[in-house]
Amino acid sequence: MPENPRERPLGIFGGTFDPVHFGHLRLAEEATDQLQLAGVRWIPAGRPLLREAPEVTARQRLTMVRLATAGNPSFDVDAGEVDTDGPSYTVLTLERLRQASQFGHQRPLLLLLGADAFAALPNWYRWRSLLELAHIGVAHRPGFPIDAASLPAALATCYRERFCAQPADLREAAAGCIATFAMTPLGISATQIRQLLARGSSPRYLLPDEVIAYIRNQNLYPEY
Ligand code: ATP
Repeated sequence: MPENPRERPLGIFGGTFDPVHFGHLRLAEEATDQLQLAGVRWIPAGRPLLREAPEVTARQRLTMVRLATAGNPSFDVDAGEVDTDGPSYTVLTLERLRQASQFGHQRPLLLLLGADAFAALPNWYRWRSLLELAHIGVAHRPGFPIDAASLPAALATCYRERFCAQPADLREAAAGCIATFAMTPLGISATQIRQLLARGSSPRYLLPDEVIAYIRNQNLYPEY
């Protein structure tokens, strides 16, 4: 044990969540268990930069995340990016969290990413700074192997240098490690759900019933 054991890391889970689905929920649940997180803070992106404009408003995506996570005391939802007018940069969100008095610079934070998002990390604004602000936890995702040989060179080097095999190590520092975890493989994507809805097929059992009811009620994704 370290002399001053730190708290468990808080997971930070950003995404477009257009809509949120069981792949996201299992990722957060299994990360909490395997990486020994204190909980997961979900942060829906306001205006994501690296993809086309989402089908629905940021507020509607936020509401869907709230509906999906309600009732899980380990999860909470942060509207910070949705409430900000400018583009959603994760590095700025992490800086905001660090400045908030509740976290300061000591509390371990861990940014959660699926393997596809991790492989694209070098496209992110100030991506190297992310590891000064948080650890990164990467979930396996069907079709996206986490393998240094298939990552962009700069990221592969970073991955080799920063890889951390023991969840307990994530409590030893506030930021800087990369951990992976093997979640139940779920080949669910928001794209697939939007396509099902647009052709009038049922998305049932891919996402929570409460979210499906909201989608129906608001008539979201009518023609994707
Ligand atoms: P889209 O199909 O619209 O691109 P998506 O299903 O990938 O959406 P996002 O909101 O873009 O959902 O994803 C948020 C995060 O969740 C990303 O880090 C992504 O890698 C991860 N993720 C999404 N679905 C899965 C899944 N089925 N298994 C593992 N990780 C996932």
